[in-house]
Amino acid sequence: MRYGILSDIHGNLEALDAVLDRLSTAGVSSYLCLGDVVGYGADPNACCERVRALPGLCVVGNHDLAAIGAFDLRWFNAYACAAAEWTERELRPENRSFLAALPEVAWGVGFQLVHGSPIKPTTGYVTDAFEATAALEAQKEPLCFVGHTHVPMAFSCRQGGLLCAAVPFRVGQAVLMEAGYQYLVNCGGVGQPRDGNPRAACGVYDTDAGTVELLRVSYDIAAAQAKMRAAGLPPILADRLAFGR
Ligand code: ZN
Repeated sequence: MRYGILSDIHGNLEALDAVLDRLSTAGVSSYLCLGDVVGYGADPNACCERVRALPGLCVVGNHDLAAIGAFDLRWFNAYACAAAEWTERELRPENRSFLAALPEVAWGVGFQLVHGSPIKPTTGYVTDAFEATAALEAQKEPLCFVGHTHVPMAFSCRQGGLLCAAVPFRVGQAVLMEAGYQYLVNCGGVGQPRDGNPRAACGVYDTDAGTVELLRVSYDIAAAQAKMRAAGLPPILADRLAFGR
């Protein structure tokens, strides 16, 4: 089985469609979505509809909660706040219901999904080996997929071991899972990459090979930016797409 890993789509339909095209060519038949389907981008409804139609699992992100009035906006900066309020006004009732029904944690055979971290599913961050060590301790399955930082990274820890370490994870260098180890993997963000590479990020989890592969996909950034500007979203949110920051 090959799963497509999607996270942090953030209402960016151009990026999502490019990624879905690429994943279907890569032989993916089911999808694991790690939340933040909306927030920042100009196409929250279309992105919800695409994700709703996919076979697989999806968990809720903090921006999804913000867009349905279920997250305290004081945690957000002014731009994220403005985007959340805009998204809440735009969301159609059926997409609002879809987001409201998403679970915080989802489970598959040997893996779990959360937006942030196994400790705080929607708001926790895993950005380094120190945070990953605590996260891996709280993790119930050998493999956990997270999003939220929009930066691809992977960590592993020997089961029952004390220290976890970052493992190389880049295009062309997949994570190969070994028995007796636990893994926590972030395949980056589809709709707003923040690792300095503006191409959309996504992943392929191959259960037979025991690998998680990172993919980067070019998309029409200018088209996504033009829609955001036309919608009156804060200009900085459109600008940053070109830099992957
Ligand atoms: Zn996000």
